[in-house]
Amino acid sequence: MFSRILIANRGEIALRVIRACRELGIETVAVFSKADENARYLKYADDKVCIGPPPSEQSYLNIPSIISAAEVTDVEAIHPGYGFLSEASHFAEICESSNITFIGPSSKTLQLMGNKSQARKVAMENKVPVIPGSTSTITNQQEAVSIAHKIGFPVLIKASAGGGGRGMRIAHNDASLANALAMAQREAETAFKDSSLYIEKYIEHARHVEVQILADQHGTILHLGERDCSLQRRHQKLLEETPSPGITPRLRGELYTAALRMAKAVNYTNAGTVEFLVDRDGKFYFIEMNTRLQVEHPITEMVTGIDLVKEQIRIASGEPLKYRQKHVRFDGVAIECRIYAEDPDNGFRPHPGRISTYHVPGGRGVRVDSHAHQGYEIPPFYDSLISKLIVHQATRQEAIACLKGALEEYVIEGIKTTVPLHTKLLNHPNFLNADFNTTFVEGLLGREQ
Ligand code: ADP
Ligand code: ADP
Ligand code: MG
Repeated sequence: MFSRILIANRGEIALRVIRACRELGIETVAVFSKADENARYLKYADDKVCIGPPPSEQSYLNIPSIISAAEVTDVEAIHPGYGFLSEASHFAEICESSNITFIGPSSKTLQLMGNKSQARKVAMENKVPVIPGSTSTITNQQEAVSIAHKIGFPVLIKASAGGGGRGMRIAHNDASLANALAMAQREAETAFKDSSLYIEKYIEHARHVEVQILADQHGTILHLGERDCSLQRRHQKLLEETPSPGITPRLRGELYTAALRMAKAVNYTNAGTVEFLVDRDGKFYFIEMNTRLQVEHPITEMVTGIDLVKEQIRIASGEPLKYRQKHVRFDGVAIECRIYAEDPDNGFRPHPGRISTYHVPGGRGVRVDSHAHQGYEIPPFYDSLISKLIVHQATRQEAIACLKGALEEYVIEGIKTTVPLHTKLLNHPNFLNADFNTTFVEGLLGREQ
């Protein structure tokens, strides 16, 4: 096992990893940008190193600075969290060549699955269903038009290097296709410095259901169940739950088999997630594999009792998993709300600022993963996620009731948050009846405008 780990991230996930390390008796080194220098969670790390000025490119994405912090503090491994460098194969490669363990899959796997068009190919080769679309990246508009005519409109133009719901544009006809291509290309170039695109048929009324995978370096690959992440805004998840309330046991089994097949095909190690869309007829399609810890990992932890961050660290250190599939038990229902510092009355624009009053909910089955506190100043430079409120109860009905109570108890003043939106969702009959899809939230918001 490692004795010291550097955490190449910030905010709630940095704190989440610090906590896991403390419980494992591992020392931590936190890195921070100038914008985060007063963040309270840094106190819980054994050491901290400033890696640059506020902009991510100069700090949390600054590889030379992070590697030099790792070398100065003599760590054996780096946990990348999610976002930032967590899926950067070149970063994992530099770690590997600097004799620092990257806590995640190999750089080769990161590279392969980081290209979503390539990942589709892997799925097809392994008889995992994909959405009708292009077999590789598209090279010109004519090719895009001919694929769109073959699969039929509406189509979705997607960035091969995409993530975080960005670089995606829907097209309903030839005219909008040209526009969508140009917009997606521009966005992909800016966000990912890679403008390659691919096309999928746009699946209407789909649910997003993903399967959590855990694989050690000794050939054991397990699934830890699924998560339904259909409640999204701009293709970004807002509320997740497990188990998925909308699928049959048979479909559930098929999703597990397909996810495991995908993971085996790429010799996957560490924690990963295979994402699928499920259409109205119960047919499912692979969309991508996320080669890292997910934001929504806590709901899986609640129902399985397995600490995913500790497992990631154990696996990276070479330890074998101590249990097999039959030992993984699923207990009850867990739901997570992602609370963002955003203004729901103003197009969900980020609303950074100082939290003047802060009171967290509690009680049985309530978990808050957050680095926020009273007086905390949310910097404007990063993702606006400030807290994840997670509940775990025996039934879906009880989980929803518990979550409603917890949201009511949660006091966050001084900034605008998405709490009112979550409350609205939790009271909506479609949510209560588990009758929703990936466009439900936008539809709800659109109707109100
Ligand atoms: P998950 O499936 O774990 O919810 P997301 O796609 O929401 O993953 O992204 C995880 C985190 O990474 C989020 O905080 C998101 O903002 C961030 N992220 C993902 N891709 C990018 C990107 N290209 N640029 C900036 N942040 C990103
Ligand atoms: P990212 O890498 O940004 O996470 P994904 O490919 O995982 O992108 O897709 C994110 C979300 O976008 C999905 O959960 C779904 O809501 C929507 N989406 C993606 N592909 C399609 C598709 N072919 N049809 C309909 N919706 C899609
Ligand atoms: Mg995704």
